[in-house]
Amino acid sequence: MAANLLTQSQPFSGEFQFAVEAVRRAAQLTQQVQAEMTGPALTKSDHSPVTVADFAAQALIGSLLAEAFPADPLVAEENAADLRAPAGHATLVQVTNFVSRFFPRMTPPATCEAIDRGGAAPARRFWTLDPVDGTKGFLRGGQYAVALALLVDGHVQLGVLGCPGLSEASRPGNSGPGSLVAAVRGQGAWHTPLNVSGEFTRLHASQRTDPSAARLLRSFEADHTNTNQMDEVVHALHIQAPPVAMDSQAKYAVLAAGAGDLLVRLLSPKQPQYREKIWDQAAGSLVVEEAGGRITDLEGQPLDFTAGRTLARNRGVLASNGYLHAAALQAVQQVTHGDVR
Ligand code: AMP
Ligand code: MG
Repeated sequence: MAANLLTQSQPFSGEFQFAVEAVRRAAQLTQQVQAEMTGPALTKSDHSPVTVADFAAQALIGSLLAEAFPADPLVAEENAADLRAPAGHATLVQVTNFVSRFFPRMTPPATCEAIDRGGAAPARRFWTLDPVDGTKGFLRGGQYAVALALLVDGHVQLGVLGCPGLSEASRPGNSGPGSLVAAVRGQGAWHTPLNVSGEFTRLHASQRTDPSAARLLRSFEADHTNTNQMDEVVHALHIQAPPVAMDSQAKYAVLAAGAGDLLVRLLSPKQPQYREKIWDQAAGSLVVEEAGGRITDLEGQPLDFTAGRTLARNRGVLASNGYLHAAALQAVQQVTHGDVR
């Protein structure tokens, strides 16, 4: 288990053990929801499985955090307002039933309270959680991730991704044991199977230096990026292979594992004012950095986690194996500003 990775004397070893187990259980819960609530009867517009999975995973991690680190605030994506309303009662009962499998004695009011633990404001030390990052991927049977990170003094110190649809942190596919990917600042990025016990293995970003050979990762959802500009970036770098479209922070795991070389989050022309949410970037950004990669915004600035619930002072994201960062940044700037720096 995680004990072979971090000894008790190393910083954040207790937090690491907690986060790995919390994410593992929450990811297993989301898989159970997926297995039991999706099927041929489900229409495309029925988002109830991801709604239940989202709330259940947040309630579970909120409850576990309250036990393990009761003083630590949690900044998470969901809140229980809809579940507290009469129209949400049936969903609340479903969520509570799922959470009780992993956290006994759960009641509907306790479920709401655990979810709303995630409504705290960022503080000097706090956790941030996306219970189901990549909700569209979850519904499509594509990639999604449970993403939990610990921030201290504005820096991500610990990040854990539960990726049920990845093998060895690098290969998409839903028939394997999934991957749990974790990083602690200064102590590397690691992966281990999600659903069976196994060793932690260190992750290393690729050493590719030729931009034309780069494997570029992008959002699956066209509305989460700018597909025209993405094509222009590909053209500017003479990238040969088509971009790999993938949901969620699973992309960061793939980059950290050396199975991708570049990751670009361009601003959608439909939402040019969009600012990244901290829970969508915190865990994944540390995983990339600790694997030897680099992550900045589209201007080359470091991600600034001190601006509240969003990365309000950044625009988009560029992540790389490190070697390709300068070339990719220049191409992105050329495409988004029409100039070369
Ligand atoms: P991805 O799977 O890479 O598309 O990232 C999923 C995350 O994108 C979700 O958790 C959303 O929070 C976030 N998201 C939602 N709208 C946008 C947008 N317009 N641009 C970028 N990201 C978005
Ligand atoms: Mg998300």
